Amino acid sequence: MLFLRKLYKGNKVLIKHTKYFLIFPMLISTILSAQAQELNVYSHRQPFLINPFLKAFEEKSGVKINIVFASKGLAQRLLAEGKRSPADIVLTVDIGRLYAYVDKNLFAEINSPVLKNNIPSHLRDTKNRWFGLSKRARVVAISRTRVRPEEIADIEDLALPKWKGRVCSRPGSHVYNRALLASIIAAKGEQFAENWAAGLVKNLARRPQGNDRAQVKAIYEGVCDVAIINSYYYGKLKTSKISEQREWAKSIKIIFTNQTNRGNHINISGGGVAIHSKNKTSAVKLLEFLTENTAQDLYGKINFEFPINPKTAPSLEVKSWGAFKSDQLPIEKIAELSSNAQKIIDKVGW
Ligand code: FE
Repeated sequence: MLFLRKLYKGNKVLIKHTKYFLIFPMLISTILSAQAQELNVYSHRQPFLINPFLKAFEEKSGVKINIVFASKGLAQRLLAEGKRSPADIVLTVDIGRLYAYVDKNLFAEINSPVLKNNIPSHLRDTKNRWFGLSKRARVVAISRTRVRPEEIADIEDLALPKWKGRVCSRPGSHVYNRALLASIIAAKGEQFAENWAAGLVKNLARRPQGNDRAQVKAIYEGVCDVAIINSYYYGKLKTSKISEQREWAKSIKIIFTNQTNRGNHINISGGGVAIHSKNKTSAVKLLEFLTENTAQDLYGKINFEFPINPKTAPSLEVKSWGAFKSDQLPIEKIAELSSNAQKIIDKVGW
């Protein structure tokens, strides 16, 4: 009997304490869910590039990051997953691709004073859905031996008859070239842009083919004398582990065009928060982190891109290419003009 009474008393104590055992974890999980412990990043950017940033963020925030990497098809995947999507953030390159997410209503509107402060206004969405995270310039590569730098001042020059049979290009319909053509439409109008593209096609040394690196290789091999490439490929080739690629880089110089008028055309890498993210607070923290010094510095050091945040200095290699004036066109315009650009590309057979 005494034993039973003791057992009852003991349980009463246990029951009393159990309340706290139940309440504390609930409190803690409420606090934690406000700041997610895991984030899922859908990335078109290659793991070698983004892993170092994401690691730095994990260390700083204690939030674990899972990456789904795919070179294409992530927008379709987000669409198919709908509300059940585990994605919190999407990272990609080119305004055309960022816009594809906005078009399909896959990005949430974000109100972040940090992002607004770190990213120049012409390189982010006026409706705060996508944000530029790094910059790249589409430059002209010239043969060191067969072309003098003063022979090319503007991108428009590539359509001059003097370059007949001397230009190499990847297909016009690639987003990089489509964006470049859209920037010419924005500056000079559609008719001018069409004449320019037709002139460029007339000057081609061979049918448009290959990626940006392949154009540098073609200059090295003497197939052509000038080509259009994204600036970071120059850094990648110069520092490549493959000695042959370093030779390609040695055979060229890069020219920033339009320095006495609107400035060199630039594009961005960027990202946005997935519309159905369950961890928006942490997702915004990650985007903010990507625009701050640690990550901005890494974009230059690992991939030879320009910082988007004016407070971060370019990496030493990037700096060695020289300061230049970049086109201040609101980059949204390029997305808006992209289908007009594509029509011209189809028409002139670029
Ligand atoms: Fe690229």
